[in-house]
Amino acid sequence: MWKSADFKEVKVTDRYYDEALHIDISNMLKLDPDRLVAGFRETAGYIAGDDAKTIESFMKGKSRYGGGWEDGMIGGHTLGHYLTALAQAEANPAVIGDELNRVKERLDYVLNALKECQDKTIGTGYEGYIFGANLPTGEFKANPAQQFDNVEKGFDDPFKMAWVPWYTMHKILTGLNASFKLAEKKTALEVANNLGIWIAKRTEGWSKETRETVLGIEYGGMNDCLYELYQINRTLKEENSSLCHKEFERFAAAAHAFDEDALFEKVAEGKKDIMDNVHANTTIPKFIGALARYETFRNEEKYLEYAEKFWEMVIDKHTYVTGGNSEDEHFGKDCILDAERTSVNNETCNTYNMLKFSRRLFAVTGNRKYLDYSARTLVNAIMASQNHETGFTTYFQPMATGFHKVFNTLDGNFWCCTGTGYENFTKLQSGIYFRSQGKLLVALYLASGYTTDNYTVEQECDFTRSGKVKLSIKPSEGSAIDSELWLRIPTWAKDIPTIMINGNVTEPVQKDGFLVISQEKIAEGAEIELDFELGITCENLPDGPNTYAFMYGPYVLSARLGTQKIMVRPHGISVVAAAGRSVDSDELRITAEKSVDDFIKNIDKYLVKRAGEMEFDLSGVDKPLVFTTHYNQYVESYGIYWKFGA
Ligand SMILES: [Zn+2]
Repeated sequence: MWKSADFKEVKVTDRYYDEALHIDISNMLKLDPDRLVAGFRETAGYIAGDDAKTIESFMKGKSRYGGGWEDGMIGGHTLGHYLTALAQAEANPAVIGDELNRVKERLDYVLNALKECQDKTIGTGYEGYIFGANLPTGEFKANPAQQFDNVEKGFDDPFKMAWVPWYTMHKILTGLNASFKLAEKKTALEVANNLGIWIAKRTEGWSKETRETVLGIEYGGMNDCLYELYQINRTLKEENSSLCHKEFERFAAAAHAFDEDALFEKVAEGKKDIMDNVHANTTIPKFIGALARYETFRNEEKYLEYAEKFWEMVIDKHTYVTGGNSEDEHFGKDCILDAERTSVNNETCNTYNMLKFSRRLFAVTGNRKYLDYSARTLVNAIMASQNHETGFTTYFQPMATGFHKVFNTLDGNFWCCTGTGYENFTKLQSGIYFRSQGKLLVALYLASGYTTDNYTVEQECDFTRSGKVKLSIKPSEGSAIDSELWLRIPTWAKDIPTIMINGNVTEPVQKDGFLVISQEKIAEGAEIELDFELGITCENLPDGPNTYAFMYGPYVLSARLGTQKIMVRPHGISVVAAAGRSVDSDELRITAEKSVDDFIKNIDKYLVKRAGEMEFDLSGVDKPLVFTTHYNQYVESYGIYWKFGA
């Protein structure tokens, strides 16, 4: 059992990551909180039976944001993400001074507004219910929980009947949980508990058939957030806290109502192509919820197995080199990836969820593969999802060669991925350090500081400059370090690195795929230096043996393809996708070797790094290309995958 370091204990010092954090917060603070809560206020007003004028004044004369989502039937989902992202920011030691004050003030403002809304439901048939979706007709105004009623009847027209209200509810409850867990907001817990009871009442009233109907429509990770709320209260009970809700056991039962055992069993059987045309972001959170059940009770191994089986399936059969998955939001047939490279791959919510899932799976299992995936995905999908100048983020990341990334705007696109995008950059400090009994693990190499009661760790690392990692471990005054030091060996490392402790070369032991340095060697503190050999690695696709992507150390590379074809088109429900393609073809003919295999074997000769730059020249092909790190390609069209022919 490993435990991730607390949000408050880790500060990322890498400049690029730090900039990503602050621009994210600056955008969040630019949003008008009254517009984000407008829908919640309107809903509460109708529940309380207020007249139009009273409702208008309760809404402070503000309306929901536009763009088709916030003013649609999924409205209010952004506020859930907003709560989580702000709570993470408040707990982040890199957020200080005026910025911290503004974050705190904003989070408190929004939570108080939600409490006010919830208070208006007291004594009504909707007690505890808060929701922000658009109320499109008189019928919805008369019954502000109409979407939930419609879902129970199987109606899911997103314009007229229901646009995944349980998915939205998951985001709201998760945001309330995070506000309590990370930022100790008692108001958040109170609102969450009252909302939890409204949810529990609803699930308790379901017949077997109704439950099946509800589970047939996207419901996010309702199991995950309800298990979390149950865990929060269980801990409070153990602490004899008066904050514990007296009926909190109902949250676990409600969570279980959202466990889709039939689906879990189907995945565990591992039949061929069972994810074909299945909506990825609907499905991933369900399995995070299965893991949550295991984390909560530790008594039913099968829920852990469901989670592990699903994770393996996604990674082995549906994942690109960046760690992303999906084509137009859906999984395809097993191992069909080359054939599904388009302008709409890799929805950001999916990588957000897979990252969260992987770190939690590692904590429970200790299996290194979950960290390998996390490290890859953080830099090549999450960091790659942000426009570093504006802070805005992607919905899709095309895997077809020649397209570009499309980013949201501040007040025009409140997509699901806009919300996960806000969350991603306020929690960059998570997943770097883990602890277990007598062990400290460096899971991710990223410039950062880690402060505990017993010791501090300072990590210096910048793989864009060299393969060197420096760790300074210092015991707190009067104490000695009581842990072994565990170090992850990255999958891309060409060899076991040279390790120096206080200037002396040392031979570490390997355990479970980690390098382990004994407690004696670091007890009094130590300066540790690792030197990884950085180099090019090549990865092809299961259905494209000659379709290759390249990495340099931890970085996926993509070719620079210019800005001439930056064009967008509408896609799906009020989403925007890349339209202009900068190349006619992604085929490259090898001129320097006789076969693709020989070319790839000798790639060091043909893909050559320029000294002092993260620019790589590809030669030995009919069309020479310049590659760079993919994570900061936010201006040009790009090409990660290329089809080689002899
Ligand atoms: Zn999304």
